[in-house]
Amino acid sequence: MSTTLGTALITGASSGIGAVYADRLARRGHDLILVARNRQKLDAVAERITSATGRSVEVLIADLGQGEDLRRVEAVLRSNADISVLVNNAGFGAVTGLVDSDVDAMESMIALNATALTRLTYAFAPGAVSRGGGTVINIGSIVAVVPELLNGVYGASKAFVLALSQSLRHELGEKGLRVQVVLPGATATDFWEIAGTPVESLPQGWVMSADDMVDAALAGLDAGEFVTLPALPDIEMWDSYQAARQALSGSLSNSRPAERYRHTLAPR
Ligand code: NAP
Repeated sequence: MSTTLGTALITGASSGIGAVYADRLARRGHDLILVARNRQKLDAVAERITSATGRSVEVLIADLGQGEDLRRVEAVLRSNADISVLVNNAGFGAVTGLVDSDVDAMESMIALNATALTRLTYAFAPGAVSRGGGTVINIGSIVAVVPELLNGVYGASKAFVLALSQSLRHELGEKGLRVQVVLPGATATDFWEIAGTPVESLPQGWVMSADDMVDAALAGLDAGEFVTLPALPDIEMWDSYQAARQALSGSLSNSRPAERYRHTLAPR
């Protein structure tokens, strides 16, 4: 079965949110390239999707925290002109306090959540633009705007994802690159066990299923949203937050410090 929609490359597709994206994008008619470390799990996802949809599903075993593996995936993104969608989803978090956390683990988190996402975006975006367009879906988190909620480096890595997505859209949005950043709240996946706390320990009213989260995010994509917050009931709250940010932007650079600091300055 040929596809006119092109191929979607999804990182972290062996479980959770990434596996649901794989299912949904195949059902929409995309062929897939699925990336993760665990071959058994990735093969199982691929087999399930191929038999349900008939789409072509390739698996790419790679540890995106390792330079050599990461560059292998970058090379695929550069050379395969059929790839029309990149879902930057692989990531992990932690629930430990900022200064109580092992700094090497924090560095690995930055390597996956920020560095790998950046390099894969660089590998995909210019080619996509030169081919007339493409889609980047970056999986951030609500901690991008509330880093106090979980581990601080995790929040900072997701703030990076949000800022990079804003800039990417600003620079390439009008050149045909569709950019969406998804900010999920708590979602029922292995993420929580890996981060160090069972998902069952969270107030269940906070926790969304991965199916609902991805379906809402794709509805947001279809509606042309740049930022999608699947759990936020009142989108006007986000709009006012953005309006405040925009209002600030014209006043943040001046030749003189603000009046409130001038008492400390040497007289001119
Ligand atoms: P998950 O079930 O643990 O999935 C994480 C995926 O990333 C797995 O497929 C894992 O596969 C892959 N992965 C982890 N380390 C990797 C590495 N070094 N190289 C390649 N792949 C790697 O958790 P999830 O909730 O679906 O997480 C997906 C994304 O959603 C993450 O970016 C996370 O920060 C974000 N998010 C999650 C929540 C939540 O509450 N669950 C909320 C907001 C945002 P392998 O182990 O096979 O490599």
